[in-house]
Amino acid sequence: MEMEKEHRSSHPRLVLVPLRFQGHINPMLQLGSILHSKGFSITVLHTAFNSPIPSNYPEFGFVSIPDNLSEQLISADDLLPFISLLNLNCGVPFQECLAKMVQKQEVENEPSIACIVYDECMYFCDAVAKYVKLPSIVLRTTSASTYLSRNAILQLKAEGVLTSQGSTSQDLVPGLHPLRFKDLPVSKIGTPEIFLQFITNIYKTRTSSAIIWNTNDVLEQPSLQEIQKQCQVGIFPVGPLHEVAPASSSSLIKEDNSCITWLEKQKQNTVLYVSLGSVASVDKKELGETACGLANSKQPFLWVIRPGSVDDQEWKKLLTEGFVEAVGENGCIVKWAPQKEVLAHGAVGGFWTHCGWNSTLESISKGVPMMCKPCFGDQRVNARHVSQVWRIGIQLENMCERGEVERAIKRLMVDKEGKEMRQRAKNLKERIQLDIREGGSSYNYLNKLIELIMSF
Ligand code: UDP
Repeated sequence: MEMEKEHRSSHPRLVLVPLRFQGHINPMLQLGSILHSKGFSITVLHTAFNSPIPSNYPEFGFVSIPDNLSEQLISADDLLPFISLLNLNCGVPFQECLAKMVQKQEVENEPSIACIVYDECMYFCDAVAKYVKLPSIVLRTTSASTYLSRNAILQLKAEGVLTSQGSTSQDLVPGLHPLRFKDLPVSKIGTPEIFLQFITNIYKTRTSSAIIWNTNDVLEQPSLQEIQKQCQVGIFPVGPLHEVAPASSSSLIKEDNSCITWLEKQKQNTVLYVSLGSVASVDKKELGETACGLANSKQPFLWVIRPGSVDDQEWKKLLTEGFVEAVGENGCIVKWAPQKEVLAHGAVGGFWTHCGWNSTLESISKGVPMMCKPCFGDQRVNARHVSQVWRIGIQLENMCERGEVERAIKRLMVDKEGKEMRQRAKNLKERIQLDIREGGSSYNYLNKLIELIMSF
């Protein structure tokens, strides 16, 4: 009992505040698992909608706070005003909740709160942490290059080089090689003013003590060095978090494991895994062209068609009208897959992805080359790095057309070019594995991060 007390008092509690989207919840809970494995108590403060599933993390405490937002406000087309309102609404309930936690910890002799770790989009946490006199740390869930390119947007806009609508120019952005103006993450979501306000809000220097980044030196050392030069506080690139964290699922949607049984029947490196993540959507035409391109390629595929990812409500009809019959045993379609397990499966030889940062990291970590079809925001930056910097994938530049899809699948899955990308992806995977082990930079940053938290 005494020992337990000692252990508890030497490893205090951390309060984690994720943003309520799959691509943000995953890295935050992975970070929580890592820090829990180092002895910290973890409490997750989350909003009610899309709340994490506590039974997946029995060792964590979960506390829900009201955000007072009607569900009608939440749509993939309107994320930025939504995030802005979330920040306006959550401050007071968050502060009340923290005050109760502090009171309880005193009465019940629970581990004291060492610090608040919040998703960069939950920036209201900074002011609350300051008010209750607790240190705070930001978790950035996008790449370091995305940070630099978003900062460049602010600067280019101030210089009048870039309009708020962005640019379709193929010219390279000075200082951001290999990004072209058309790759800059100017969101098509929300108005340009709201987007610029969003960037300013998430990147404004506040009072946080450090920045944890879900990336690492192997992938982004030059960008990280550049950011560290500009930053007043320490940066801790401890990723890829999903590789460092003990295995567990933070999926908000039920994973269909039948696809693993299907993968078992496929040959090594032959399957193309197709998924556009948890937010992006396609229209009926793109869905049809994708379906035909996949079928014509004759390559086995595992395709995630998330409910809600297809604009047209008729998607089920489209898929049942001949397509499923046409693909026969060549394809497997599921609503949601255990993605990390899928990418780790030997049968998977390529990933057609929207290049969300988590998907990109998960693919790289398993040595799977990519076919990139970015939809919006940072996905274009990630896609460009996949194809031009790490050279482990190809990018579909135009509207999704069946001929282009078929040719791209062949390049990635069959041609010599694809085999070379697969080899480079495997090399990168090995370097990342070394980086997260003892002596590697991610490993060292994690130790330094723990030292910092223990010093609060
Ligand atoms: N994901 C999953 N099953 C699927 C599709 C996606 O578990 O069928 C997970 C994937 O592993 C990743 C997250 O959902 O961790 C998506 O995050 P990402 O940053 O790639 O894209 P976003 O959804 O934020 O656009």
